[in-house]
Amino acid sequence: MTLPTLPGLLVLAAVGCLALGLVCFAAAGVLLLRHVLRGGRAVARVRALHRKASHGTTCVYCAHGQRVGYDTSWPCDTIRALDGEVPA
Ligand SMILES: [Zn+2]
Repeated sequence: MTLPTLPGLLVLAAVGCLALGLVCFAAAGVLLLRHVLRGGRAVARVRALHRKASHGTTCVYCAHGQRVGYDTSWPCDTIRALDGEVPA
């Protein structure tokens, strides 16, 4: 077995750094994807709670909530906030 030369070692180190960078990039991508999917599922759960009543113009969740004096009209503040509207 022969020892690698200095240029060979440099190429080997460069390839190792590149491979490590690719592994880190892939891991960051997986973590980001998990974060995005988790956020999407959370929003879906909130939208399932805050849905329009089948008879009427109120939010099912807000209309049956415990808060007195809260505006329960559809779309409620929660849905408007999810849609990007800033509640007043
Ligand atoms: Zn609501």
